[in-house]
Amino acid sequence: MRIKHFLPVEMDICDVILELHDAGFEAYIVGGAVRDHLLGRTPKDYDISTSATPEEARSVFGRKRSRIIGKRFRLLHLFHHGDILEISTFRGKPDKDSKMALVTDDNCYGSAEEDAFRRDFTVNALFYDPMTEEIIDFTGKGMEDIEKGVVRAIGNPAERFAEDPVRMLRALKLVGQYDFYLDSDTENALFRSLPLIKQASPSRLSLELEKILLSIYGDKHFRVFHDYGFLTYFLPEIDSRWGSEEAVRMLELLTERNYRVDEKLYRNSMSLATAVIALPFIREWSKIGIRNVLGKIFRPLSLVNRVSEAAERVLKLQMLMTAPEIDRSLIDSPGYAHARELLLIRHALGELDFDPAAVWPPGNPRNGKNRRPVKSRKRSRGNKNKRGDAGKQDTREKLEKNIHENDLRFIDSEE
Ligand code: ATP
Ligand code: MG
Repeated sequence: MRIKHFLPVEMDICDVILELHDAGFEAYIVGGAVRDHLLGRTPKDYDISTSATPEEARSVFGRKRSRIIGKRFRLLHLFHHGDILEISTFRGKPDKDSKMALVTDDNCYGSAEEDAFRRDFTVNALFYDPMTEEIIDFTGKGMEDIEKGVVRAIGNPAERFAEDPVRMLRALKLVGQYDFYLDSDTENALFRSLPLIKQASPSRLSLELEKILLSIYGDKHFRVFHDYGFLTYFLPEIDSRWGSEEAVRMLELLTERNYRVDEKLYRNSMSLATAVIALPFIREWSKIGIRNVLGKIFRPLSLVNRVSEAAERVLKLQMLMTAPEIDRSLIDSPGYAHARELLLIRHALGELDFDPAAVWPPGNPRNGKNRRPVKSRKRSRGNKNKRGDAGKQDTREKLEKNIHENDLRFIDSEE
């Protein structure tokens, strides 16, 4: 079903689609960006789906601008105006010979329509063609479900969850983030399939945790995870403490942190989010040390070391910066900026008997010298056309450096 519907997609994203079109390929904007535009929200990034294989797409954009990543499903990362665009090739039906329910190898290409049916939920399977300004709703349900706020699995929900249990987490994130509800078949299947999450790879789940720490909806996600009985698999320690004074405090702190990131008052930071979640539990578990508290809270998942280390610094500074004796040298400590942010959050929630803003200055000139400029997770709209080639190369190197297996591209300088 094609529907004439203009979406305010940024010009430089349309240019990428145009480049693929000019080279003779089909290309669409897909996934979260279409969903977010339809809901009147600014997408955090854009995903593009094309008939070009990763190798063909790479030859369209050139080797310097792109690289092929992934094993389970190979896709192209395009370095684009200081950001990364994910360009995937239309997926076809999985290998029929495979008797395993859990799909482990997905490198099988297909048509745009087949690709739509391989996606997880109808609201995630809408394609947008910026050239014709049309939305293509292959499942015939996506537009209606967006309007009604329904998360509906494509195909048989139990089979789709068995194929990839991480889809359950993705369904619940949609509920948390948009206040959507699960269609009843999808909901029933999810309840029955929850234990399958134990089969999901720990590294994928850890990556999901990192995305949640970087999102401004973490508090909402945790609530929904708990309500659906998913939290006991995902973060059992937090689930077992649900409703306790510490857990309530944690949600309050996280909500305030998310508000401040959303308002662009704070940089988005995984270490600050991690510290916020751990803080209420630190006193109770003080004997085991901060690093072990972090391990305990996030077990069975794991955070990359530099995030744990940065969060540990922020948490240690909480104690030092609330001591009666003011030690000015702390201003030069790594992690100071986030530690101050956390103090301000605590103050806003009435936790401190002094105003940290009056005691601790915002910046740290010495640390600031080497700090990258504040960068929003959202795509920067500013001087994107003013950057010369040298700048592009520089940005690419930075991005390359920041991407590891888990694609932690939004970690900021203090982590
Ligand atoms: P976000 O705004 O968080 O990026 P998103 O829906 O775009 O949300 P991505 O992880 O970027 O999430 O995935 C892009 C699209 O790829 C999804 O919208 C969905 O169509 C498809 N997708 C992602 N993960 C799966 C999965 N496990 N199974 C099927 N389809 C998936
Ligand atoms: Mg996306």
